[in-house]
Amino acid sequence: MEQKLLNIMAGVMCIFTLTLVSVLYIFQGSSILARQQARDDLGSILAMVAKQRDQMTKDDPQALAHHLSLTMPAQVSSSDVTIRQEDDLTRFQIRIPGISSSYFLDYPMAGNCKGIRDMTYVASGDGGIIELSCDGVYVMSKTVKGDHLYLDLDRPSSVFDAMFVVDAGHGGKDSGAIAGGIEEKDLNLAIVQKIREKFKAEAEEKDTTYVEDQFSVFEEKGIGKVGVFYTRCSDKSVGLEERVSLANRLPADLFLSVHINSTATGRASTINGTAVMYKVSDSSGRSKEFSSLVLDKLLADLKSKSKGLIAGDEIYIIRTANMPVALAEIGFITNDEERKRMASDGYQEKCAGAICSAMEEYLQKVHK
Ligand SMILES: [Zn+2]
Repeated sequence: MEQKLLNIMAGVMCIFTLTLVSVLYIFQGSSILARQQARDDLGSILAMVAKQRDQMTKDDPQALAHHLSLTMPAQVSSSDVTIRQEDDLTRFQIRIPGISSSYFLDYPMAGNCKGIRDMTYVASGDGGIIELSCDGVYVMSKTVKGDHLYLDLDRPSSVFDAMFVVDAGHGGKDSGAIAGGIEEKDLNLAIVQKIREKFKAEAEEKDTTYVEDQFSVFEEKGIGKVGVFYTRCSDKSVGLEERVSLANRLPADLFLSVHINSTATGRASTINGTAVMYKVSDSSGRSKEFSSLVLDKLLADLKSKSKGLIAGDEIYIIRTANMPVALAEIGFITNDEERKRMASDGYQEKCAGAICSAMEEYLQKVHK
């Protein structure tokens, strides 16, 4: 009797185990299938673009000369298309209003896709969004011809004769120093926005224009096209590594970071004045030369007290930047008078002017 019961129990256990194993197997199988599906979805648009190449080459021989060629539907003009570049310069978002999920079946997209690592397409109620992720740092230009929109990706070093990175310190959750209800991150950004305005080239009507979310271009006499890139143009958190990696990957010729000083305790004090931090370990001496020029220009324009050049090698961005780097401490937020001056438009304007002319002058000097 006992033996029989044991046999039955063993049988039940065996069936249970088999069922469990098969359920697990089916479950795992379907999740593998789901993952496969997701991968296909992500890759599908790149594959589709590749498939369309032959057809497009027949219809529009120019298509393959460009990275991407889009035909605009009749009701959409190419000026309705907005292109945004992510801050790290490796990703782009192209938003086309009023198109559906079947858009690319009706209006095929083609191009050589060089440098594009991945491309996704999402259609929502008010249009479609193409997201590109690239294999490095690029700038995008667009050319409009008839109902065609051509997008091209270029390495910044092939477009610009020189490059600057301007960094507004702190941002987002990181306020930097705070005093009298004013946060350092906001002053830094206000000054950098004014630098951006100064560097911004006159808008010209051209067939080909760069997507200039993230940088401005100006012509420097004797040098050529200078691209100025910004680590942030809004109040947001940007990691120190990201800031330096942008400068190093471009690679930029000069890196300037804007900060506001504070006493060590953060308490109100009469201490005031302008300092610039530089990289002592830069054996070429260029970080010191550049920083010294930035300090001279700031002191001359702001009429502030000199706190001198300060060794800044313990600061991450100074230590890791591969080009001449300067970190300007405009003044002390903990000094009531200096803080009020720094919060004013006129003073910020002077800061921006001094920094722009220091960068341009130093570029001229090293290019000789
Ligand atoms: Zn700071």
